[in-house]
Amino acid sequence: MSTPKPPMGSPCNGCGACCLAETCAIGTDLLGYASPCPALETDDGRYWCGLVRHPSKYLASHFPEADRRALDEFLGGMIEQALGVGRGCDSDDDA
Ligand code: SF4
Ligand code: SF4
Repeated sequence: MSTPKPPMGSPCNGCGACCLAETCAIGTDLLGYASPCPALETDDGRYWCGLVRHPSKYLASHFPEADRRALDEFLGGMIEQALGVGRGCDSDDDA
């Protein structure tokens, strides 16, 4: 996949440059440090954060009693907010 990174502040196009360059603090805190991030997913010609799309896939062992759909809605929304999804590309253009 080789979608060019848009300028910082532009709508995110899922180019993946940020996550490929460095695993973020949330990914490191929740999954342990690894590069590339184990939650980095590709689908439909772009990259996605798996911790936003379906966190239960990665974190279910921490919540063995939890309903997976509820976990996805609750944690996915929290992680989405914490990452600033929808607020534009926050990756430095020189990175
Ligand atoms: S935040 Fe920026 S660098 Fe990261 S995937 Fe979106 S457009 Fe690409
Ligand atoms: S946790 Fe999500 S946003 Fe962070 S590096 Fe992994 S895939 Fe990217």
